[in-house]
Amino acid sequence: MRLDDRIPRDAPPDVRTAVAGAAPGWPLVLYFHHVHPTLDHYTSLTPASFERGLETVLADYGPALDPASAEADMAPPAAPTVLVTFDDGHRDNLDHALPILDRLGVRALFFAITGLAGEAPDRSMTWDELRGLTAAGHRVGSHTVTHRKLPELAAAEQHEEIAESLAAVGDRLGDPRPPLAYPYGMPPTGAAVPPGTLAFGTVKARPRPWTAAPHDVRRTYLPVGREQLWPRLCREWRQQWWHASP
Ligand SMILES: [Zn+2]
Repeated sequence: MRLDDRIPRDAPPDVRTAVAGAAPGWPLVLYFHHVHPTLDHYTSLTPASFERGLETVLADYGPALDPASAEADMAPPAAPTVLVTFDDGHRDNLDHALPILDRLGVRALFFAITGLAGEAPDRSMTWDELRGLTAAGHRVGSHTVTHRKLPELAAAEQHEEIAESLAAVGDRLGDPRPPLAYPYGMPPTGAAVPPGTLAFGTVKARPRPWTAAPHDVRRTYLPVGREQLWPRLCREWRQQWWHASP
């Protein structure tokens, strides 16, 4: 890798936090939240930025991983692939991100807060809409029932948040082993994630092989407002994929 491809050491903290990608040989997992033209939020991208980001990732990192193949016991892919994920089930994902995903041929994984699905249809996707996503080849996972910080709950509540939301996705959408993403990237402390469930953290998780740490898979992000650094980030992630790869 050329030196000028590296992310500089004095890059802003949100960029430094994003630099660690996947464990060598394992899929890069990106997480997004809002995709909206006017919403001003630190995790929000405009549709134009999202489109540019996805195009950059596909060009400078690698093709999208089909979320149907994302499983706790999956074999690592033969080349760099990226799993595109969205947290919180925002309805703007449907309105603004989906047309771009379709145009670029990317299938994504949407983590829904199952207790909110359909509760406020102007803000959150309904079960019918989530079912439509799965029918179109996307996948839906659990982001717990109520999106509270799991470690702050009693053990029984932690168990309910995980088990009930996984069951809701499984029953309503016919997915025998839905994936899970922890709110705020905070894994449970008092309840077990069911064996065989692939569970995602955030940038707080370390890059490790999915088979070694299936309940704390690292995800990283395209820092909002740092478009000029995205191509370098992608090339750095790609370099990490090959580095020390068997
Ligand atoms: Zn969330």
